[in-house]
Amino acid sequence: MSGPCIFCKIVEGAVPSRQVYSDEHCVAFLDISPLAPGHTLVVPRRHVTNLLDCSADALVAVTRALPRIASAVVAATGATGLNLLQNSGASSGQVVMHLHFHLIPRREGDGLGYRWNAGSYQTGEAEALQDRITQLLQG
Ligand code: AMP
Ligand code: ZN
Repeated sequence: MSGPCIFCKIVEGAVPSRQVYSDEHCVAFLDISPLAPGHTLVVPRRHVTNLLDCSADALVAVTRALPRIASAVVAATGATGLNLLQNSGASSGQVVMHLHFHLIPRREGDGLGYRWNAGSYQTGEAEALQDRITQLLQG
């Protein structure tokens, strides 16, 4: 499957990338604009848009190698931690519409981070959402 999708092209080898891992289900390569050195993307070989468009089997297949890749990225960079980030949908910050996981090496005081503007619920709001989500998952 080719089309205009840049990550499909990377998977096919039609567009070059700094590949660090590949297996029958996924390919991992360095992000071209890293948030930190070693910032790595893991993508499924088969095109799916994001987590909202992904079967459980497809997700398991692409995430099977994540722990190994994450450990190698941390070891290679001397990082002390790592963020796993997955953007699904333009409103979340997804720009490339081919499912991918960001592995971002972290260390104390690296200056990375994001606004975590935690809120709170109005009376009854959490309960209503709990009921709604539970209902949808039972349907
Ligand atoms: P997202 O905002 O989650 O869709 O992230 C897309 C990521 O893909 C960004 O971090 C880009 O730097 C990265 N990216 C886009 N094109 C390429 C490419 N050709 N090779 C490697 N990384 C890329
Ligand atoms: Zn694709």
